[in-house]
Amino acid sequence: MGDEILRMAATRLAHCSRGTNTAAHLGGDAFAIICTELGHGNLVQSMAQRLIEAMTKPFMTDDETIRATASIGIALFPGDADQLIKFADMALHQAKASGRNRYHIFSPAMDESVRRRKGLEDDLRRAIDDEAFTFLYQPQLRLGDGQVYGAEALVRWNHPDRGLVSPADFIPLAECTSLIRELGHWVLRTVCVQGRAWADAGHGDLRIAVNLSAVEFMSDDLLDNVRGALAESGLQPQKLELEITESAIMEDMEKAIATMQGLREIGARLAMDDFGTGFSSLAYLKRFPVQALKIDRSFVKEILLSAEDAAIANAVISLGQSLKLEVIAEGVEELAQADHLRQAGCDSAQGFYFGRPVPPA
Ligand code: C2E
Ligand code: MG
Ligand code: MG
Repeated sequence: MGDEILRMAATRLAHCSRGTNTAAHLGGDAFAIICTELGHGNLVQSMAQRLIEAMTKPFMTDDETIRATASIGIALFPGDADQLIKFADMALHQAKASGRNRYHIFSPAMDESVRRRKGLEDDLRRAIDDEAFTFLYQPQLRLGDGQVYGAEALVRWNHPDRGLVSPADFIPLAECTSLIRELGHWVLRTVCVQGRAWADAGHGDLRIAVNLSAVEFMSDDLLDNVRGALAESGLQPQKLELEITESAIMEDMEKAIATMQGLREIGARLAMDDFGTGFSSLAYLKRFPVQALKIDRSFVKEILLSAEDAAIANAVISLGQSLKLEVIAEGVEELAQADHLRQAGCDSAQGFYFGRPVPPA
């Protein structure tokens, strides 16, 4: 049926690109058209629009109606043939990234951003080999008595030219490549060793929280890596809290639940990070063996100014209480925010008001 649809798509494509144009099937679901006479004005845009419209009409096979989407990347002369295809491909990625049924025209700035990204990726690969990362730890405390009970490990990349690079910049990059698995494994080992060092120094009660990326969470090595990191370091499993995000879970709910159960069997704690920002499915939440919900910083930020944000924060707190989950507020920057959260029944908090992320010592 796939072949049949490709044939129909090819016919429509050929129909839209009649004249002096050349149309080709590049392989898989990719086609290319070379337009030699576009003339002036925005003919290329109108042609792209026509193509998208043609491709989004339903495909009728003998017994089914199939709907498809199309994304188009466009590169304009000058440039040699190889380069044009490469540039069109970059534009295609851009078109796909900005949604379905779009076209995008290549610009030199795109080439530059891809080059920069590639440079960063090479640097990251080297940094993983050299272990050029450090961790900062942000204290987490109970709102009731102000006692610090744990710390969240936040990775930093110490880049030779760029200085400290934020994880928000390089974790997504690492996630697009296989680098995240190595990095994640290293993060787990290092954090467990730190947790053990604190326990040995007399802080046996301290819990240590570590973020798992979505890719890491879904990888088949995760359970072995966690088991290995705990065994190597000698850290007690219940002192390790793994933070996962909703987006990591939504990809494959059943697999996610199985992974979470595996982590629980190992004895580690689980917290749902950035809670409320993803597609929180309450029906699933009750099946997730998590112990804590972290109220996302975006709700805490406006908690005193926006009735809506306060309502969401309060609702997460009530939800946590009813489901017997610990609730941790992230990004508390002011005493008044902490007071509001405490009064609403929130168990714990972290944020610049109590302490910025700092080196382990
Ligand atoms: P997150 O897990 O939600 O971490 C909280 C982020 O909020 C941290 O940013 C922290 O420095 C920042 N933060 C804490 N308190 C405040 C506050 O009061 N005000 C403001 N404005 N910000 C505050 P950071 O360190 O840049 O980390 C960003 C994200 O990168 C983290 O979000 C986490 O998702 C990810 N990340 C950090 N370390 C790791 C890691 O080792 N592995 C993985 N996979 N992801 C990590
Ligand atoms: Mg976190
Ligand atoms: Mg968070």
